[in-house]
Amino acid sequence: MLIVQKYGGTSVGTLERIDEVAKRVIKTIEAGHNVVIVVSAMSGETNKLTEYAKYFTQTPQKREMDLLLSSGERVTSSLLAIALQSKGYKAVALTGRQAGIYTDEVHTGARIDKIDTKKINTYLQEGNIVVVAGFQGITNNGEVSTLGRGGSDLSAVAIAGSITADICEIYTDVDGIYTTDPRIEPKAKKLNKISYDEMLEFASLGAKVLQNRSVELAKKLNVNLITRSSFNENEGTLITKEENIMEKPLVSGIALDKNQARVTLRGVKDEPGIAAKIFNKLAHEHINVDMIIQNIGLDGVTNLGFTVPENELEETKKVMNKINASKIIDFDPNVVKVSVVGVGMKSHSGVASKAFDTLAKENINIQMISTSEIKVSMIVDEKYGELAVRSLHSAYNLDK
Ligand code: ADP
Ligand code: ASP
Ligand code: MG
Repeated sequence: MLIVQKYGGTSVGTLERIDEVAKRVIKTIEAGHNVVIVVSAMSGETNKLTEYAKYFTQTPQKREMDLLLSSGERVTSSLLAIALQSKGYKAVALTGRQAGIYTDEVHTGARIDKIDTKKINTYLQEGNIVVVAGFQGITNNGEVSTLGRGGSDLSAVAIAGSITADICEIYTDVDGIYTTDPRIEPKAKKLNKISYDEMLEFASLGAKVLQNRSVELAKKLNVNLITRSSFNENEGTLITKEENIMEKPLVSGIALDKNQARVTLRGVKDEPGIAAKIFNKLAHEHINVDMIIQNIGLDGVTNLGFTVPENELEETKKVMNKINASKIIDFDPNVVKVSVVGVGMKSHSGVASKAFDTLAKENINIQMISTSEIKVSMIVDEKYGELAVRSLHSAYNLDK
C-alpha cells in the first residue's frame, strides 16, 4: 500500500519522540508499504515563533510571518530524515517548495492550488522514505506561504489525494475523535467512525484535532482518513462517508472554540449598505467573520455584533478604526463558542432548547446563538466554557 502518515507537534515534540516516530515509520516500511511522512513543528514551536514576532509588533507583516513560521517544520522534517538515515534507511526531507506544493498568495492562510508530485514520486520510486515539512507551500511568485494553524493536516490530505495514497493516517496525542475534547471531559467516548460532514462541523467549531480545511479536502478527494495516537497501538477513528455509518446518534459531540472574540458596534446608522461596508472591508483583509447579530433599529440607529477569531482581533480593530462605522465599539476577547453537533438533529426538534435549558441551569448567560441543520452554537463567557461543555456532554448522555 501507499500510505501517508502525518505526525503532529507532540508526536515529534522531542528528539526521543522523533526517534520513536522513526521506529514506527520503519515498522510500516518493513511491512512492505511505501510511505510519505508529513510532520508538524515540535509542539509549542509555532506559538513561540509567533511570540517572538510580537515582541516587536502586534501586527507583523504576514509575508515575514510565513518565512518565520515555516522554519519549525523544516527542523522536524530534516531531523526525522536524519534519524531514519542513521538507522540505515534511505530517506529524504523536502520543504513545501521542494515537495511541489503550490498555493495562492494569502500569507498565513494560503490555499493549496496544486501539487506537482514529480519530485515526491521520483524519490519514492528510488526507494526513499519521503519526509515532507507540513504547513507550508510556495506561491506562484516563489514566496513562502503557510496554510493556517493546524495546516500540516491539510498538507497530508492534499499529498494523499495527489499521489492517490490508499490511506492517510493522522498521528496525534489522543486515540482518535472523541465525543468532546477528552482533556476537558475525561468521560468523553472515542468514536470508531465519524462522517466527513460531522467531522467538518466539529473541526470548524473548534475541535482542533483535525484542521477543518483538511476534512473538507478529504471529503472532496475521497481520502480515507484515520486519526490515531502515535503513543500506542490502539485503533483510531475512521473519517468516512455518511452511508458507511450505521448508527446515527441525535447528537455526536460537543465542541469548544476558544479562539473567539466578540465585536459590538453601538449606535450604528440603520440604513442600507452599512453591513456591506463593514463586512466587505473585513473580507478584504481576510478576516473570518463568524456569527453576526443585528436587530431592527430604533430611531435610525441599531446595534451590530459579530465574532472573529481572537488572533485576528488586532487586525479587526485596525479595520474598524479606519471605517469609523460607530463611535462606540466594544471588543471582547474573553468569549468562547460552545457547539452541539449531530446529523441526527436534521430530523428531530428540541435539541436547541435542551442546550439553552442546560446552560440556564448552570446559570451561564448565552451572548449569541447560531444554528444550522446539524449544529447549535452559543457564545458564552470564557470562564464558563469548559463547564458548559461538560454539562452539555452529560445532558445529551454522551458519557453513557
Ligand atoms: P497535533 O499536534 O497532533 O496536530 P492537536 O493538538 O492539533 O494535535 O490536536 C489534538 C488535540 O485535539 C487533543 O490533544 C485534544 O485535546 C484536542 N481535541 C479537541 N477536541 C477533540 C475531540 N473531539 N476528540 C479528540 N481530541 C480533541
Ligand atoms: N505547526 C503548525 C501549527 O502549530 C501547523 C501544524 O501543527 O499543523 O499550527
Ligand atoms: Mg493539529
